Amino acid sequence: MRSHERCGCLPKNGIVSHVWACTPRDNSRMTISRTELLQAFDSLLQPERFKDYGPNGLQVEGKARIGHIVSGVTASRALIEAAIAARADAIFVHHGLFWRGQDGCVTGWMKQRLQLLLAHDINLFAYHLPLDAHSELGNNAQLGRVLGLAADARFGDNDLGFVGPAVFSDGQSLADHVARSLGRSVTWVAPQGDAAPQPIRRVAWCTGGAQGYFEAAIAAGADVFITGEISEPQAHLARESEVGFIAAGHHATERYGAPAVAAQVAGRLGVSHQFIEIDNPA
Ligand SMILES: [Zn+2]
Repeated sequence: MRSHERCGCLPKNGIVSHVWACTPRDNSRMTISRTELLQAFDSLLQPERFKDYGPNGLQVEGKARIGHIVSGVTASRALIEAAIAARADAIFVHHGLFWRGQDGCVTGWMKQRLQLLLAHDINLFAYHLPLDAHSELGNNAQLGRVLGLAADARFGDNDLGFVGPAVFSDGQSLADHVARSLGRSVTWVAPQGDAAPQPIRRVAWCTGGAQGYFEAAIAAGADVFITGEISEPQAHLARESEVGFIAAGHHATERYGAPAVAAQVAGRLGVSHQFIEIDNPA
């Protein structure tokens, strides 16, 4: 674990899983072109392989030269303001600004976020499903690292689901481990189906709002499914099946991919990078 005291990106509740390099802006370092950075993200994450809910890549064009990248989970106003304070030239996030189904008007929160980005000439890069899916640096791979889980198979749409051997043999212990590792409480729904409770052998996970992947996780042979959110139907499904459900937070399960990718790309291209955690109870 590295100390993030100088850059201030250690979350307040003391999450201990930062392994990415974190380097506050350093004006003596080189800069790279916006195009070079976009190509590096694209070749790593291969957005052309995905049919997504919004555009992946450069969502808002800023300055042509980039020396410092701030990564974060969501392009919220709080993150943009923190990136301005950190003198970022580019922001790299999982949840960008533009999604299918929006009304397309630049009003309210959208106006405020865009105004901040444009006024400070900051580039916004956003990658959604490609960032969930990357086999080593993506949200799922990195959540697995944080939880000590290694996938030996994938499942579900776009192969976003990860599944592998369990690290605990009972669900409550696994749920407690997830809560400790992520620094927050989790929702644990124990299975009550005919064959439950059985020792857990296989754990499946898919970060964020992937409660809809529960049945695919059951079909993939999981004994427990970990994701960010739970909706009403999954509680019943878990109780009626032999498969437990852990909801550990959309934000909490998705804060590891963006810094892992941004740190790798920044390190390779010789620019600085820092992750900024904007706390989110959801
Ligand atoms: Zn998400």
